[in-house]
Amino acid sequence: MIRVTKTSASQLGNTDFSKLEFGKYISDHMFIAHYRNGQWENGEIIPFQNIPLSPAALALHYGQSVFEGMKAFRMYNGSVNIFRIPKHIERMNRSLERMCMQPVPAALFEEAVKTLVQTDMDWVPPAGEGSLYLRPFVFASESRYGVKVSDEFTFIIFTGPVGPYYPKPLRVKVETLYSRAARGGTGAAKCAGNYGASFYPTRMAQLEGFDAVIWTDGQQHEYIEESGTMNVMFVDNGTLITPELTDSILPGITRDSILQLARKMQIGVREYRISLQELKQKLAEGAITEAFGTGTAAVVAPIKSIHIGGEEFTLPDAREDALMFRLKNALNDLRTEGSSDSFGWNTVLS
Ligand SMILES: *Cc1c(COP(=O)(O)O)cnc(C)c1O
Repeated sequence: MIRVTKTSASQLGNTDFSKLEFGKYISDHMFIAHYRNGQWENGEIIPFQNIPLSPAALALHYGQSVFEGMKAFRMYNGSVNIFRIPKHIERMNRSLERMCMQPVPAALFEEAVKTLVQTDMDWVPPAGEGSLYLRPFVFASESRYGVKVSDEFTFIIFTGPVGPYYPKPLRVKVETLYSRAARGGTGAAKCAGNYGASFYPTRMAQLEGFDAVIWTDGQQHEYIEESGTMNVMFVDNGTLITPELTDSILPGITRDSILQLARKMQIGVREYRISLQELKQKLAEGAITEAFGTGTAAVVAPIKSIHIGGEEFTLPDAREDALMFRLKNALNDLRTEGSSDSFGWNTVLS
């Protein structure tokens, strides 16, 4: 049992649920647990608040910091469903391992996330009108400035309501100078530093008028990896294709869910190394009819044009019956209706 201390100053009344912006509103409570003296404490739920932090906290200097992004949904019957908890725990613990940080016991994570969502149940937007975004993260909190692996960590989960997100179709540029991740690097870990390092190339692309970059492999810049902070997929003559996972690609849980749903819907799926050359040729021939990013925030983000080495390839306008939207709707139905959850992805709170 996790101790819960409730706030006496709820912000729920000050939140306009008709104007939810991603990343703006934070719910009333947070979970916090510390790892020290060789073990994780039970942790507790307290009102959302600032935390005391030593300026010498190792995370601030040497980057031991890992996060997750997941969602809880209001179902049409009024229940609340947290999506794919075990998969997120597994990924967070893999990221922690890569960063030499202490894994969080699965039971602690699961209990914490369930109790927190239960506590802030009223913050989950109505079915079909958004979701509750959950942000679990762990950082090195030991106060010490000598370079070392931290012996103390802090695990926090906070949440915030987000609206349904219909990103405008993206204009993207294939990046062949900068890299997001290298072979043998930390690209497959959801660590803070990957983001810090991607801001500059992204800003450069934005100054040229693009919304995001498509990352290529760090060795030869010849193979497609990801789109901005999302995984990337294409529809090639009706087949869903996406780069196969490597240690420089973040294994997206939306990616995994979309691929599994597509297979269930009898749609052809191929995961393989997609070269720039192949992509270019297929775009020129018109074999590729859809391109999109996948991630927890947007679910599916359509791409309208791809710039490759001075050439711009424009995709047809995505229609309502596009494969990407059929898959997105199937995923949303599974989360809000639950009847079709043959995968066991939903954790429905009673
Ligand atoms: C989080 C993330 C994704 C998407 O993962 P989801 O689990 O689908 O949200 C893709 N790429 C990068 C770099 C990410 O950090």
